[in-house]
Amino acid sequence: MWDKIKAGQMGVLSWRSLKARIFLIIILTGVIPCIMIKYGILDNYEERAVSLRTSDVQTQVKIIADHLLNYNYLQETSSEVINAEIDQLSNLYDGRVIIINSNFKIVKDTYDISEGRTMISEEVIKCFKGQNTASYDEKNGYIEITTPIMQQASVSDGEKGTKPEEDVIKGVMLTSVSTDSIAVTMEILGRKANVLEILIGIAILCFAVVLSNILVRPFNRVTDAINEIQEGYTEELISVPDYVETVHIVDAFNQVLARMKRLDDSRQEFVANVSHELKTPITSVKVLADSLRDQGDVSVELYKEFMEDIAEEIDRENKIINDLLALVKMDKTAADLNISVVDINELTEIILKRLRPIARKRDIEVVFESIRQVTAEIDEVKMTLIITNLVENAIKYNKEQGSVKVLLDADHQFFVLQVSDTGIGIPEEAMEHIYERFYRVDKSHSREIGGTGLGLAITRSAVLMHRGSIKLTSVEGEGTTFVVRIPLNYIA
Ligand code: ADP
Repeated sequence: MWDKIKAGQMGVLSWRSLKARIFLIIILTGVIPCIMIKYGILDNYEERAVSLRTSDVQTQVKIIADHLLNYNYLQETSSEVINAEIDQLSNLYDGRVIIINSNFKIVKDTYDISEGRTMISEEVIKCFKGQNTASYDEKNGYIEITTPIMQQASVSDGEKGTKPEEDVIKGVMLTSVSTDSIAVTMEILGRKANVLEILIGIAILCFAVVLSNILVRPFNRVTDAINEIQEGYTEELISVPDYVETVHIVDAFNQVLARMKRLDDSRQEFVANVSHELKTPITSVKVLADSLRDQGDVSVELYKEFMEDIAEEIDRENKIINDLLALVKMDKTAADLNISVVDINELTEIILKRLRPIARKRDIEVVFESIRQVTAEIDEVKMTLIITNLVENAIKYNKEQGSVKVLLDADHQFFVLQVSDTGIGIPEEAMEHIYERFYRVDKSHSREIGGTGLGLAITRSAVLMHRGSIKLTSVEGEGTTFVVRIPLNYIA
């Protein structure tokens, strides 16, 4: 079933392929002009041959027409000279000559069948009015020509005494000549043209096959190179500089590849960091347990002390695992957001109430200033993480008797949460790394105060999921301010 669908798709694909299209275009642009030229030449030849034949016959008929009058042929058709000339003409062109006098009576017919009859046809009447006619009957293969038999007559002009001359039409010669010989030549020419056409057709076909293959080759090279990378033979960047188009495709692919590599590297680094971070508390637990076991007589107090240390390390391990889980959840799509309308003032108050006891231990004051009442469409759990992490950091990295200020404001589109502290600040060079997972400015200090290096990574992910932004300004030794901007209405 699947094979059938695939085979069907391949069939459609083959006609949708660039190669097939190039092939078709070359064939059409080669064969159509060829056929047109053939018919053009044959038509042209026929036209010229008929017009040449017509003018030849007309010239000869005219000579005979002039002779006729000298021999008074219209009255008496016994002149052997004229009869011989007429016979010669009709033999030469395989035709028929009919001579009609001014009474429309046929005085001579080389076929000897119509003599004595009257002939009144449109052509003959036209000819008596002085018009030469020639018509080509392609279907029956003959040309019919009418030629007037004209005599120059003198007409006296009484008034002026001059004698102008005027032609008098005494009769009409109706000549039909066969065009069989033209048809034969046409047939021979046609046959030759057909042979030529077939030869050119074969040449164009070969040309089309070769050219379509050559033109598509760079695209095949792109596919091969991509396949090689996919199958893992190489990790080198692809280069197919044959066409501007292939360069564009390859550039785009290389960028995707570089991005994937960066992602892969960062994933590997993350895994390495996770292992390291998780190992540290376990190593401490092991060291503490080993030293207890290896010591002979250990007092209950020492046991208790060691056990407290072990419990602390387990708490730490637990915290890292919880933060990691929170981060993994953030990596999921925004569809996982649980959006509801939340009173941000109330939420901030609740969080600050929970954090104030920790601040109080180090004599740090936590102030909340709300410029206006804010309600927004947000995920309450993730927003709690954002506020908690920022305020917790502001307390953790503060000085004794320092202060933390949380400011809430909004315009018609966004609400702004600003968390400032009077703490140790962040060095300039650390600012760009601050949101990286497991990044800590001072590893040992952070560890001491229970930091995992994941808080700001979680915060940033949560802000981005709400299509918001997070910025920071900091002066070392003076304090840090984080500014979070989040849309009041969630944009899916
Ligand atoms: P941690 O769990 O270590 O606090 P975070 O991701 O929350 O991890 O923060 C990363 C690092 O950024 C911290 O280790 C600390 O060095 C620095 N940092 C974060 N917030 C502040 C702040 N308000 N003042 C000074 N340094 C801070």
